[in-house]
Formats: sequence, C-alpha cells, structure tokens
Amino acid sequence: MSRDQILESRRWKISYSYDCVCDPRCYWAKGGRHSQTTFLNKGEQELGAEAAAEITARAFKHANVADVEIWQESDEERATRLKWMRKTEADERRGIHWNMGGAN
Ligand SMILES: [Zn+2]
Repeated sequence: MSRDQILESRRWKISYSYDCVCDPRCYWAKGGRHSQTTFLNKGEQELGAEAAAEITARAFKHANVADVEIWQESDEERATRLKWMRKTEADERRGIHWNMGGAN
C-alpha cells in the first residue's frame, strides 16, 4: 500500500482519557484528566481497543488510560480530512512557487 492509498482509506481513530502529570497541573483538566483523540497506525485496530490504546499511550507517554474508544472514520470525515490535506499541500506548493518567483 502506498502512502496515498493509506491516507485515502477510511482511517481508524482512537480516543481515551489519561492522567494529567503536567507541572503545574492543568487547572482545566477535569478530575485531573486529559483526553486524546488521534489516528491509529495501520492494523492497530485489529489488536482491539485496549491494546491499541496501550501502544498509542506509550508513544505519547500517557499514564492511566481509560474510556478507550476506537472507530473507523465515516466517508464524510475521510472527505474532510483529504480536502484539508490537499489544501495544505497545495498551499505548500504555492509557497515554494512564490519563493522561487521572488528570486527571479
Ligand atoms: Zn496537564
């Protein structure tokens, strides 16, 4: 699978809560907890929510993970994500183009 094929498939997402260990503690963290929503790497959803959360939390150094949910993004979410991604890429290309134009 190419990078584009992975990006264009409907990706799996994960959300969970974890202990705030910031110093000083974040005053807005309800019950001393933060929450995180992010994408899973390919295939991690097949391990199940708990195992996937463990891998993700380790990567982010998050402790005492709870309220784990995983789900696959909808076609709509996928479309929004791709639209945003393509816009960012187009902006970057335009940025490079402008720089080159300025050098002429
Ligand atoms: Zn915090």
